Amino acid sequence: MIPPELILCHDGLPPDGPVVPPIVQTSLFTFSSVAEMRATFAGERQRPVYSRGLNPTVRLFEEKIAALEGAEDALATASGMAAISSAVLSIVGPGDRIVAVNDIYPDAFRFFETLLKRLGVRVEYVDGSDHAAVEAALPGATLLYFESPTSWRFEALDVAGLCRLARGAGALSVIDNSWATPLLQKPLALGCDLVIHSASKYLGGHSDVVAGVIAGNAEHVGRIRTRVAPYLGPKLAPLEAWLLVRGLRTLSARLDRHARTAAEIARRLADHSAIASVHLPGVATPGAAGLSGWSGLFSVGLLPEVDVVRFCDALRLFKLGVSWGGHESLVCPALVTLDQTGGPNHARFFGHSPSLVRLNIGLEDPQSLWSDLQQALQQGRET
Ligand SMILES: *Cc1c(COP(=O)(O)O)cnc(C)c1O
Repeated sequence: MIPPELILCHDGLPPDGPVVPPIVQTSLFTFSSVAEMRATFAGERQRPVYSRGLNPTVRLFEEKIAALEGAEDALATASGMAAISSAVLSIVGPGDRIVAVNDIYPDAFRFFETLLKRLGVRVEYVDGSDHAAVEAALPGATLLYFESPTSWRFEALDVAGLCRLARGAGALSVIDNSWATPLLQKPLALGCDLVIHSASKYLGGHSDVVAGVIAGNAEHVGRIRTRVAPYLGPKLAPLEAWLLVRGLRTLSARLDRHARTAAEIARRLADHSAIASVHLPGVATPGAAGLSGWSGLFSVGLLPEVDVVRFCDALRLFKLGVSWGGHESLVCPALVTLDQTGGPNHARFFGHSPSLVRLNIGLEDPQSLWSDLQQALQQGRET
């Protein structure tokens, strides 16, 4: 197997060329003759025709993700949600049923509860750690859809076990692997059929790109590429793909740093008198599920005497914001998602507590981050 750092850092460019690949910023690619055009249209030749389909810069990103996930192929998309919707729509049709685990990504939940519902697809939610419940729900289902660890509660699930249950029931399995990245969890080797990522998070890593990717076997990814993507048009732009290739160079180094700081801060928070619970999988449960490590996103439950709003507003280095996986530390309180409008409310559906707060640990100095949390917890406790 090729070491991941080589996949991330080398692009197979000729020794006498640039060290960084160009951005092929073009919508179409011309032909030298009708014969060549005809051969391409007839499927006898593979080459770029139009960037809604194939673009060399986007392809480079796809090849890197396929190599990292141990997949035969990968398809990049304009967002993580485009990866989720394209993957799921390649599997389900009217009358089908999906089994999903609790605490999936909020917009995946809303997609299931609105658009998919209109298309006649039903979704049943189960506790992914309760294998008896999953097994009982699976018969007759087309798809098992899950995340590990889950969003907000960060529960690490037994990926191999869940995929075995899906396969036993004749259902396909799709996992959202954004939190772990291919460096910390390789779901295809654990029996998953498709892996999706929000590349907007760690893969890009600099909070300047929204993108997604789907990885799996050649037949299934090819089916999405030829029978779903051309019509939905969820293409990734060349500039975004180039930024992702650049982001991937440092993925391993960034994750090391995120993980080290997150573990240290999670340990100190667990000992802090204002904290009721810390949810960072991998640290609490070493070797858990399919994870070989942990990253830098986790949540904490504050004790009732801490005012969540005052705590969050008092933070200075941690900025209030959505998303995660970038260089900057972020805080997001569950109470804003409990009040969220504009569709079915995932936080209320999954029963999130208003005292839950999500922390994205960035690349800043760990001691400064800890000092910031300490002073904000102190202010959150003052009445
Ligand atoms: C952000 C996120 C997504 C959606 O990705 P976008 O790139 O924002 O569309 C999907 N899954 C998880 C776990 C996420 O955190």
